[in-house]
Amino acid sequence: MIALILTDVPFEQDIRELFMAFYPGEHYVHEPDNAAGLVFTAEPAFSDAAGRYRMTIRESGKPDQTFSSVRYSDRSASKNALKRALYLALSERNGHGLPWGTLTGIRPTKIALTELSRGASEEEVKELLRSRYFLTGSRNELCVRTAAHEKRALEGLDLQNGWSLYIGIPFCPTTCLYCSFTSYPIGLWKKRVDSYLDALMKELRAVSGWMRGRELQTIYMGGGTPTSIEADQLSRILSTVEEYFDLTHLRELTVEAGRPDSITEAKLLALKKHRVTRISINPQTLKQETLDLIGRFHTVEQFRESFLLARRLGFDNINTDLIVGLPNEDEDDVRHTMEGIRALSPDDVTIHSLALKRAARLNTKKEDYASVRYGNAADMVSLTAEYCEGMGLSPYYLYRQKNMAGNLENVGWCRPGHEGLYNILIMEEKETIVGCGAGTTTRVVYPGEDRYERVENVKDPALYIARLDEMLARKEGLLSPDSAGKRAEIPEET
Ligand code: SF4
Repeated sequence: MIALILTDVPFEQDIRELFMAFYPGEHYVHEPDNAAGLVFTAEPAFSDAAGRYRMTIRESGKPDQTFSSVRYSDRSASKNALKRALYLALSERNGHGLPWGTLTGIRPTKIALTELSRGASEEEVKELLRSRYFLTGSRNELCVRTAAHEKRALEGLDLQNGWSLYIGIPFCPTTCLYCSFTSYPIGLWKKRVDSYLDALMKELRAVSGWMRGRELQTIYMGGGTPTSIEADQLSRILSTVEEYFDLTHLRELTVEAGRPDSITEAKLLALKKHRVTRISINPQTLKQETLDLIGRFHTVEQFRESFLLARRLGFDNINTDLIVGLPNEDEDDVRHTMEGIRALSPDDVTIHSLALKRAARLNTKKEDYASVRYGNAADMVSLTAEYCEGMGLSPYYLYRQKNMAGNLENVGWCRPGHEGLYNILIMEEKETIVGCGAGTTTRVVYPGEDRYERVENVKDPALYIARLDEMLARKEGLLSPDSAGKRAEIPEET
């Protein structure tokens, strides 16, 4: 057990996350009555005129390790100094550092992109990441290279007046073992999908009114698995989008087809007819035993067939998602997967490091999976990067999550010109993204003010249908140009 006792210490979350990153898989308790095992305490102490933060690591059988960090008048400088002091102490204690140095947030490229946008050179940004966050080696390179790619991809987009739309379809054929997204089995929802779509249409129509006059630049339909619903239902959503939104400035329309077992020719034709520019077909791995184990009831062959069918129908921007660090997979399995992916030559490949969230079955039913083994995530991720480079792809966005295998990252790789712009916009928080549907988030970005506000829709589709008006009222308060005025009329479906 690890106990954290943080007494009136600012930046508590940062400290906790950095500390826990050194002890993956451990459970921590906050200020326990009888702390045992490894105990970390941090408190604001005033050991000298500067007023230092003092921290102690206590472990049974070992001498206490106490260290301190200077407080600055600048909050951010204090936080970074505190994290560096803690990082050095824990690196020495454990005999290793962390791939991302002291960076614990989910958007490490944000710092690099901000600096590049201010006019710093790539070398200057690398040096800053090295000295301020102890970010060295391959992650430093990856971070700056990705941010430079993002900067190029965003050029020409009007980020002041632009916005993006996310449409959530929260249904999947089955629930994957590691899933922590909003996902409900389509089998149980089949008869009520149209009621869900009625509510979704109403929300889309309302949003179209509130966002009139702004440039809609990207649309992303995700979930869940949007292709879980029928071809005519997909058409209904996309027809509504075409009817109510001005698509003059649209740069990208992505549909996450996702699970190969949900894809049919009729559905792909419906997407093509509505000018979908980018789709994802996601195998996660090409090892059949793993697919069976993680509850994705499709075959490797089904993935290949869906991919080739999409190519035949003219989709020229296809992404494939893969996960590194799946149970019982080692480097040979990852090599096998990457060979199969290379043979198909996708335009984008997104490499995820497995993140085990609390709600995932792989976590909640741990005892059922006690015998599974995990390979070396860092080596496997390096291998995927080599393959992606070999396929002529380069990293264009990345993000991190909590509890990721090896404390690594998720990276989107693409051919030049095939960037998923929505992915960059959401990760870098560059413009307002309005979410419609169950489990979606709307984030209104205030350019130049370095702040945003967000509202969330409920996750459960039944509650979404029942409480839609309440969510619309909240959204209107944030989106309507005249939010203080009288409730805007929502156009009727035609
Ligand atoms: S396909 Fe994605 S959203 Fe659906 S169950 Fe699997 S992980 Fe969850």
